[in-house]
Amino acid sequence: MKSTEESIKDKWKKILTDEQYYILRQKGTESPFTGKYWNNHKKGIYKCAGCGTPLFDSETKFDSGTGWPSFYEPITSDSIENKSDLSYGMVRTEVLCSKCQGHLGHVFNDGPKPTNLRYCINSVALDFNAED
Ligand code: FE
Repeated sequence: MKSTEESIKDKWKKILTDEQYYILRQKGTESPFTGKYWNNHKKGIYKCAGCGTPLFDSETKFDSGTGWPSFYEPITSDSIENKSDLSYGMVRTEVLCSKCQGHLGHVFNDGPKPTNLRYCINSVALDFNAED
């Protein structure tokens, strides 16, 4: 009999690509300037690639120069969760999808107005739905 943890792992392995699994479930990071959305300027909604929950609106996306899609605010305050991340000898705040607990990226305090926040998100963790 498999443990619950093993079963959850199997479920995600079936649903996600290897790249998505690495980012969303193993807290990986894509290389900058390689993702499909860092330079996307179309209007629309960015959803969680794991569970489809709407996470960010293109209205809050900005060019951070980092090579990762960057937003100053999530679509609603309860769509994402923040968690303290002390890995790699840094003090950072991890950003997770509140519905599936998928790892999205990190949030920093050097963003633009009105929030001064910079949600630095992996393209792989997102699915973009263009406005028609
Ligand atoms: Fe999710």
